Amino acid sequence: MRERLRIHVNGIVQGVGFRPFVYRLARELGVGGFVSNHSGGVLIEAEADGQESIRIFCARLKAGIPPLAQITEFSSEEIPPIGETAFSIRPSSHDGLAHTLISPDICVCGDCLLELFDPKDRRFRYPFINCTNCGPRYTIVHGIPYDRPLTSMKKFPLCRECGKEYNDPADRRFHAQPNACPACGPSISLHLSNGDKVEAEDLVEAVVSLLREGKIVAIRGVGGFHLAVDAMNQEAVMALRGRKGRAEKPFALMAPDVESVRKFCHVDLQEEEALLHPTRPIVLLRARGKNAIAPGVAPGSLDLGFMLPCAPLHYLIIKDRFDALVMTSGNFSEEPIAIGNEEAVERLAAIADYLLLHDREILQRCDDSILRVVAGERRMIRRSRGYVPAPIFLPSPASRPILACGGDLKNTVALVRDRTVFLSQHIGDLDNPSALSFFEHGIANLGKILEITPEVIAHDLHPEYLSTKWALGRGLPTVGVQHHHAHLASVMAENGVEEKCIGIILDGTGYGTDGTIWGGEVLIGDFKSFERFAWLAPVPLPGGAAAVRQPWRMAISYLYSAFGREFLNFDLPFLRQRTREEVTVLLEMMERGLNSPDTSSCGRLFDAVSALLDIRQAISYEAQAAMDLETAVDVSFRGAYAVMTDNAFDGGPLPGISLFRAVAEDMMSGAPAGKIAAKFHQGLGEMFLRAARSARDMHGINTVGLSGGVFQNLYLFSYILKRLREEGFAALTHRLVPSNDGGLALGQAVITTSARLHNPAPQ
Ligand code: ZN
Ligand code: ZN
Ligand code: FE
Repeated sequence: MRERLRIHVNGIVQGVGFRPFVYRLARELGVGGFVSNHSGGVLIEAEADGQESIRIFCARLKAGIPPLAQITEFSSEEIPPIGETAFSIRPSSHDGLAHTLISPDICVCGDCLLELFDPKDRRFRYPFINCTNCGPRYTIVHGIPYDRPLTSMKKFPLCRECGKEYNDPADRRFHAQPNACPACGPSISLHLSNGDKVEAEDLVEAVVSLLREGKIVAIRGVGGFHLAVDAMNQEAVMALRGRKGRAEKPFALMAPDVESVRKFCHVDLQEEEALLHPTRPIVLLRARGKNAIAPGVAPGSLDLGFMLPCAPLHYLIIKDRFDALVMTSGNFSEEPIAIGNEEAVERLAAIADYLLLHDREILQRCDDSILRVVAGERRMIRRSRGYVPAPIFLPSPASRPILACGGDLKNTVALVRDRTVFLSQHIGDLDNPSALSFFEHGIANLGKILEITPEVIAHDLHPEYLSTKWALGRGLPTVGVQHHHAHLASVMAENGVEEKCIGIILDGTGYGTDGTIWGGEVLIGDFKSFERFAWLAPVPLPGGAAAVRQPWRMAISYLYSAFGREFLNFDLPFLRQRTREEVTVLLEMMERGLNSPDTSSCGRLFDAVSALLDIRQAISYEAQAAMDLETAVDVSFRGAYAVMTDNAFDGGPLPGISLFRAVAEDMMSGAPAGKIAAKFHQGLGEMFLRAARSARDMHGINTVGLSGGVFQNLYLFSYILKRLREEGFAALTHRLVPSNDGGLALGQAVITTSARLHNPAPQ
């Protein structure tokens, strides 16, 4: 008795060797029929004698999928048999809705690496070697279905040999869309910064020599350009800093293998796994006390950020040649990373001495992802190359497609269809005009690739955010989402929790529902609504944005809030660096309420303490003062400033000012900064823990979500997490998306799902 089954498979099933896998399986089991890609996923028709063969086929189909594939939906129906005994791969058809997911970009695999360094292989030292299990994906597509004509490989017709591999179901390059070789595929070229071509017998070796001489080379990679210099060469590193306009923010490093990373950093088992993961993120690691990395790479930091090579080109340059290279994003300051050749010559000419280009276009800009292993889990800091566009699944489906615009710093956007959220790559800070155009293009591109046309737009409540203004100008229904509510919802959503939670949201700044600036919040809420249960007692933010750049202003603000003008008589080292006039102007601003909005920001409290301890008076990159304060912590010291000793707390303002007063008093009594920093971190943790206990007692909720940019502070995060567990709370933490504003769009999206369901005409 013949049986025929029509099977629909959705998920990450295109561009990951899924069809060849099905083909080989069917041939092996003597199953007839076909497999084809279409925009709704993969369609399989399988026919055989008897139910048993078909059952085995389905079971092995689900169990044995290729490493990069991910099945999210699997459905089948019986259809009349047609007597088909052969199995074939049919050409792709493009019909219906796109529910197929394109794979993120994956580093070159072990099989391809062996060939890359095999002198007998026809792809020996070929920088674009790849197969069905590895290589670029998202960054080379501009449409679906994922087939060569809709990728930047379109302009490279396959040679006879590559074509044979591509069409041979037994070959590991069967239907590998970026398949190429030196005869038919992309190639590299070396240029002076003015664009003139440099001839050399071996371009890779030429680049190696240039880097050894201390030159800065812009290298076109997978998701954009890197700027590379020898990581041991302090002079070259400082030249790069000067030209890139990046004073102190740490540079990322690349090492050929884990053994090399170990020469500079401590690497535990989980960190090793993270480094070796095919997504090839930058992993933040604790540096060894003495290491050979130039001090200019990460000044003042205890950590170094390392990644292993992603593209074959990286391997060719670094393997057996360097222990570490600086590989920082190819841009000026915080502008979006350059991706095009002409663009690079134009934008990077003033930074790089040489440019190593290639002619496989990068269609989606994608920065390197950054993560760190904390409390036994990988935690994303920047989710981009290797992770985008892998979906995140919501607990409940959205009934209309949603676009969430994110915030203005570390922007990412999200598109939602049904239960699937697609978080975009890192777009960056929207205060810079090229980032704003990347934001618009990013939204358009993502919508095109995923075939999602949003019907409702979510945005931050801040009226001055460019993302808010953009959202309000689209002519679609909108939902304004409070910043910290979005943070809470994002940590709930990625943990699949929908029930009401307590949220400890420790953040830089976000616009509050009362028009003041929030950022040190205990919220109680779900996706539908929230209440503000507790918050850091507000202090003035003298000078607004200037107070963010100059933490000493926050120290004055907190001193004034804690002691009034009396502090002017205090003997504090940091005060000696300020003129009497500077301080008086600030005091007058605050007293007269001029450009001094109130804030409950936790980030600003860190800034104030960092400045007070004379650790950092002004910053050159976001959160620098807080990071330096964390670095200063004497980790062996146990003990917290106790500022909530009385037993009655039923919500409301939290005594951040008293905490600061305790810090100032210790400072004046000559306590060491490391000890004060430790007591401050622990005291802050205890204060928020106390608020969480009250919230639990009053509301009967035991789950606490931790979110907000301040949780990038390893010491504080670990402390609060440990204490929450000790006190019997269930803690929700971020793993998949960053706790900073890079994860905001996910929260906005999931809140909009509920807002729409309960309010059919949001406006
Ligand atoms: Zn491969
Ligand atoms: Zn070829
Ligand atoms: Fe935030």
